[in-house]
Amino acid sequence: MTVEAYYRPTSLEEALDLTAEHESSLEVVSGGTITMPAVNEGHTFPSRVMDLRPLGLDYVRAEGETLRLGATTTLSEVIDRSDVPLLREAARHTGGWAVRNMATVGGNLFAPPPLGDFAVALLTLDAEVEIRSRDERRRVPLSEFYRGEDRAIDADELVTEIRVPTLDGETAYLKYTRNQEPAPPIVTVAVRVAVQDGVVDEARIAANGADAHPVRLRDAERVLEDAALDDDAIERAADAAADSANPPRDAVASEWYRRRMIGQYVSKALGEVSEAGGSR
Ligand SMILES: Cc1cc2nc3c(=O)[nH]c(=O)nc-3n(C[C@H](O)[C@H](O)[C@H](O)COP(=O)(O)OP(=O)(O)OC[C@H]3O[C@@H](n4cnc5c(N)ncnc54)[C@H](O)[C@@H]3O)c2cc1C
Repeated sequence: MTVEAYYRPTSLEEALDLTAEHESSLEVVSGGTITMPAVNEGHTFPSRVMDLRPLGLDYVRAEGETLRLGATTTLSEVIDRSDVPLLREAARHTGGWAVRNMATVGGNLFAPPPLGDFAVALLTLDAEVEIRSRDERRRVPLSEFYRGEDRAIDADELVTEIRVPTLDGETAYLKYTRNQEPAPPIVTVAVRVAVQDGVVDEARIAANGADAHPVRLRDAERVLEDAALDDDAIERAADAAADSANPPRDAVASEWYRRRMIGQYVSKALGEVSEAGGSR
């Protein structure tokens, strides 16, 4: 099968007219670093392709207490233009520089397991995904955007923006790979912990390599609530993280090994924020 139509809309309205008209028969390409290898290796045979890059959704804007990332912002642009350390760190660990120059923040939300190294950081920052169709605009917490291997988005919709609130807390980000990076993760862990009056006020712990998509490890978060961020609490949270994970197995690592490493890396990451004081 050959590509019959290649669209490069220059406005969001035009793009959403095309998604409304063609729905799932339209292959959406942002940076193309997932889509194009799949096409080149013969896994997908799109007949209609739409390129999102001319839409002007490549922006990093601080607006009050919210950071707005346009969906087609590349990971290299995040490194250059965002002032959120956790996001810059996550972008640096997603692929090599050639990939980061093309790969987009919107596209990373669709990465298959065990990928999604940027999205893991977004989960700990309580990011929201803005989704548009021709007739509707809605916002979904990123944690609710993932539905197993699917995403909470219809065929006539596009992700247009990711919104990141300014939140308290110390953060840490760790990616564990079999080979020297750039390499796919065995596990990636991001944490954000806010400590007030000596106890944990808010904890976010997220990982990939822990499920079919980047996921918040809520059992581990609950262990920390109202606890002192000491060795005992960290160990119990790490155990809860490992126990609640449902890791994929692939050529990179077995389910058993990933589960062990989730515990280890949650412990390491929480140790880092504990040393840093856990509050800003
Ligand atoms: C060599 C190599 C190394 C990599 N290493 C890593 C890594 O270490 N960590 C990691 O997480 N990923 C990695 N990736 C995967 C990929 O590069 C990233 O996940 C990237 O962020 C995907 O973004 P993209 O814009 O290229 O996606 P695309 O390929 O453009 O799109 C992927 C999918 O998302 C959908 N989509 C994209 N944008 C939108 C939107 N705005 N609205 C609706 N649907 C949309 C498309 O329909 C498509 O199905 C790697 C890829 C390669 C080729």
